[in-house]
Amino acid sequence: MDKNRELSKLKKSILKFNKNFPGKNLVFSDGNKNAKVMIIGEAPGRTEDKLQKPFVGRAGKLLDSLLESIHLDRSKVYITNVVNYRPDKNRKPSLEEINEFKKLLFKHIEIISPKCILLLGATAATAVLNHIGPLEEIRGKWKNIKIINSYFDILTTFHPAFLLRRPEKKKFATKDLIKLNNKI
Ligand code: URA
Repeated sequence: MDKNRELSKLKKSILKFNKNFPGKNLVFSDGNKNAKVMIIGEAPGRTEDKLQKPFVGRAGKLLDSLLESIHLDRSKVYITNVVNYRPDKNRKPSLEEINEFKKLLFKHIEIISPKCILLLGATAATAVLNHIGPLEEIRGKWKNIKIINSYFDILTTFHPAFLLRRPEKKKFATKDLIKLNNKI
């Protein structure tokens, strides 16, 4: 598969959704398209919308330091979000928006075809694992799930924005990243 070609086709499809997010920029991805690890967050925030790159604000800095703890950086991972535009008023994406973007996200996963996927927080867990309910039920557990035509190893951890509010939970995220490191 020509990843560059497929990714630019996907980007064009996502651009059509811009009408639902007036005045917002497309935040497509960051990192290495050939990485073993694909990381999926929720939706861009203010800084991400401005810089058109995922996880570049405060939560992104925390994500970088978590990755650093297992000697990873953006040259070794591929990062995207469930919803590729910033929802207005900083709200969480609605279930309808999650479901709208899910098909595109699955296509994105198929193109990148990573060895494993790290989901950050509840929105990513809802989109990819259909999980509704407390994140603790699935956090830190590997799942092997079929997406389009292939199976992927998927681990869920806390969203870094949540960890900024609840720093005492960071130790669990660090444990999850060690699990991820053991897999790759
Ligand atoms: N939170 C997310 O889920 N994604 C980003 O890109 C930034 C903050």
